[in-house]
Amino acid sequence: MLNCIGLILQSYKEWGPIQKIVPIKLETPFSEGFVYVFAVLGDTATLIDTGNPGEKSFYELKSQLRQNGLEFKDFDHIVLTHMHTDHYGGVRLIQEEVLLPVYVHELARPIITGGIYEFHRMNEFFNQFLIQCGATPLVHQYRRKYIEENWENVHYIKNGDSISIGGSPYKVYHVPGHSQTDILLVNHENGFTFVGDHLIAELSVNAFIEPPKPDSNNRPKPLLQYRESLSQAKNLPLGVCYSSHGQPFQEHAKLIDQRLMEHENRCSNIHKILQSGQKSIFEICQEMYPRLKGTSVFLGLSQIQGHLDLMEERELVSSEEINEILYYRLRSD
Ligand SMILES: [Zn+2]
Repeated sequence: MLNCIGLILQSYKEWGPIQKIVPIKLETPFSEGFVYVFAVLGDTATLIDTGNPGEKSFYELKSQLRQNGLEFKDFDHIVLTHMHTDHYGGVRLIQEEVLLPVYVHELARPIITGGIYEFHRMNEFFNQFLIQCGATPLVHQYRRKYIEENWENVHYIKNGDSISIGGSPYKVYHVPGHSQTDILLVNHENGFTFVGDHLIAELSVNAFIEPPKPDSNNRPKPLLQYRESLSQAKNLPLGVCYSSHGQPFQEHAKLIDQRLMEHENRCSNIHKILQSGQKSIFEICQEMYPRLKGTSVFLGLSQIQGHLDLMEERELVSSEEINEILYYRLRSD
């Protein structure tokens, strides 16, 4: 390993303290169409995220790295921005080739170590969530296939930690909301920041409903978390931000204000829809996003649930469960 790092020191010496960031654009089956993996080259080389599961994405990543004169063995480790499949999917195949250490937020532990038990717990949660929304799990639930991950050499990181990326220290900020495991990786020397899916210049990010932690009965309220995380990020001295589904951007504070305003606009849309009486989340979704069909309905339901959590917190709506379905109405008091 020391030899390996020594070689890296030599081969990347020319970049000196200035880091070179190589974006690797990989196709995904999701609506964004692509995801960026970043190779960060400085005194060492670090891989940020790994693309989708499966051989197609793995070989695409490998071939694009090769075009840049890189191989998996050149990297010191992998850092994952969060635990969504288009970001962590490549870990297993990369580790089969070279056992690179993986750094990920500590809340990823149950997903990585929970095996089939955690897989079933998650499926059961989403099944119940769809029923509670008034949707039909048979039609609207995304059927995931269980993949035994078998990761090795996993290092769990938390808010405030410092981690080496391309040989330079980056500070870890836990910014839950889009997922529970989202982190920002900030280089306070030059402002380079890997934002994962926390912020994307071209599109508004969904704050996804997720199951409670294994030791809890209450699911997180992701939009409330996301807004708090955005406010925290707004105050950080970020420079160029590298996001996973869009172009690098600067002036993150402006973008954050825009996103916070979009949440307000969606809340007013929901408010208008509820003026005609109480509705299930599925009914609200059909009015707001009539084009969503099949499993993509979940995207709308998750987003609306998040906004209803916010409206409930502001005492604008109340909910009542009737025959397992949650109905929301405007509060008149
Ligand atoms: Zn994501």
